[in-house]
Formats: sequence, C-alpha cells, structure tokens
Amino acid sequence: NQLAGKVALVTGASSGIGKATALFYAREGAKVVVSDIAEDKGQQVVEEINRAGGEATFVKADVSNPQDCEQLVQQTVDAFGRLDVAFNNAGIGGESNPVGDMSIEGWQKVVNINLNSVFYCMHYQIRQMLQNGGGAIVNNSSILGQVGFANSSGYVAAKHGVVGLTKTGALEYASKGIRINAIGPAFINTPLVTSLGEETLQALVKMHPIGRLGEAEEVAELVVWLSSPKASFVNGAYYAVDGAYLSQ
Ligand code: NAD
Repeated sequence: NQLAGKVALVTGASSGIGKATALFYAREGAKVVVSDIAEDKGQQVVEEINRAGGEATFVKADVSNPQDCEQLVQQTVDAFGRLDVAFNNAGIGGESNPVGDMSIEGWQKVVNINLNSVFYCMHYQIRQMLQNGGGAIVNNSSILGQVGFANSSGYVAAKHGVVGLTKTGALEYASKGIRINAIGPAFINTPLVTSLGEETLQALVKMHPIGRLGEAEEVAELVVWLSSPKASFVNGAYYAVDGAYLSQ
C-alpha cells in the first residue's frame, strides 16, 4: 500500500480520470475526499470505495470558486484530520472555435475552470500541507499543455498555464516537503472526449502513434505513483502519458 495512512483529495472525481484515481488512491490505502459538482455520481464513487473496504467521503465544490476550494480543504481536515495528497483534476473541454470567433465568455469559462481553479486549490492545499509537514500535489494538464490544438485556444492556454504554475509552486515549496508535478494525458476514453462524436473520435485515434485512445486507469497509475513516496525525488516535472503523441 503506497498511500497507507495518507489523506487524499481529488477534484472532478465523479467521472473519468478523477474517478479512476480516487479508486486507486483508496486501493493504495488512502482516505479519499471525492469532490465534484456532480453530487449523485460522486456519491456512487464513495460507495464503490466503501464497498471495496476503503474510506471515502464526498464534498461538493465548484473549483472555479475560490471559497469552494477553501471549504473543500477545510472539510477534508474536518473529516480526516489532515491533507497529504491532492489531485487537481477537474476540468472541461470548453468552446471550440478559432480565436477570432471564440466568445469572451467561452474563453473566461475554460480559463476559470481549467487554470484559475488549480491556483485556488493549490493556494489552500499548500497552506494546509505546510501545517502537517509536507505533501504531494499532482495537477492534471494535458498534452495540450505542451503543444497547440486548433479551435481550443482557451483550453490550450489554460493547460500551458497549469504547467507554469506547477513549476513555480515546486520551486517555492521544494525545501518545505511539498512536491508538485503535472501530468499530460493525450486523448483519453472519458465522457469529456467520447461526447465529441464517432467521426471526431476516429480522427483523434489516428493522431496517436499507439493506435488508440488511452484509458482513465492508465493515467491514474501515473498519478498514484507521482503522489506516492516512490516519486520522492520527482518535483516540478511534467509527465506525458500519451501513447507517443508528443514524440511526433
Ligand atoms: P470527465 O468529464 O469524465 O470528468 C471531469 C469531471 O470534472 C466531471 O465529473 C465534472 O463534473 C467535473 N467538473 C467539471 N467542472 C467542474 C467544476 N467547475 N468544479 C468541480 N468539478 C467540475 O473528464 P476527464 O477526461 O476525466 O477530465 C479530467 C481532467 O483531465 C480535465 O482537467 C481534463 O482537461 C484532463 N484531460 C483529459 C483528457 C481526455 O482526453 N479525456 C486529456 C488530457 C487532460
């Protein structure tokens, strides 16, 4: 058990990569706070963890709201006494349009949910982690934190921003026992992607040298490792999990 005795928090944990990671964190012995705006699906994740013999609780939080992020950390401490591990994962695909046509609201929404949220979460998580002697934070960026993608300027800019925020946080807290890393999944088989329709999916598959999309569990394995003491010298890094997408 890589995370025995640890308290872990996952945002966007009702679905996809966040859900897979919450289940794996629990499997590794962590007490897990499952957080999302989707309450019913989140409660189902909690039940699945409890049925498997783990310990979890649901906290509703909209990560684009700083007060919700503060409350989320507070309720984690109220429930389990501390915070050791955080996976800042919640995110959306956002409006698909070239820059000249992208609405101002569309830009603001995706940057709020995919970038500002990660700052808000880290801000409160770090303050708590300093009180319990350190911790590990993993931020979910994307391959689109490294390269562009037409018609997704807000998403791409936000995900690049997450990488910069990760590196800067790592520099600031490396000597204080907090490790902060980012992951870069390629296109993963979750509702965020499968909602795009069959034709788009086939085109996306072709962009991956491995010849398929990734699975949420394949991403969760990396997140668990980065969150665990096995990754004790890994800090400020960006790890792709992408079927060689970025090698092209
Ligand atoms: P998903 O849609 O399956 O899950 C996202 C979850 O985030 C949902 O449960 C949703 O309710 C929640 N969420 C949305 N807005 C929220 C908010 N404001 N506050 C709290 N929760 C909110 O998608 P996923 O593919 O698992 O995506 C998770 C993360 O992975 C996102 O940050 C996404 O950008 C990133 N990512 C996904 C892919 C992919 O191809 N699926 C690739 C790279 C990165």
